[in-house]
Amino acid sequence: MRADPPSAAATVDALAIISLPPLDGLAEEQLRGAACVWCGAGLTTDSAVDLGERRHKRLDGHYSTFPRGCPVDVTRAAVQALHDHAGSCEQCADAAEHCTVSLALYRIVRQEWR
Ligand SMILES: [Zn+2]
Ligand SMILES: [Zn+2]
Repeated sequence: MRADPPSAAATVDALAIISLPPLDGLAEEQLRGAACVWCGAGLTTDSAVDLGERRHKRLDGHYSTFPRGCPVDVTRAAVQALHDHAGSCEQCADAAEHCTVSLALYRIVRQEWR
């Protein structure tokens, strides 16, 4: 029996760490999650990985987007995020197995986002 099944909250947090391409260059389908935020491929409910609500600021106030990605790009972005994170995290330099950020990102790299 596994002591602590991955919690949905932890997964969402890890996905929120992943940086997205600049919104300026994105198509409307990408901003509302109908297409992959990276490659622009159309997404189905089965293939899409929800990247969580992103809040953005603009002159007339805040607005939210709900970007989603295809599994290939989400995995690639998680590997990149893990790499970036590990380079600047003292906990990871010390003992990466105790870093919650690192563990959460690894879960995404292993495609455990559901
Ligand atoms: Zn993609
Ligand atoms: Zn870390």
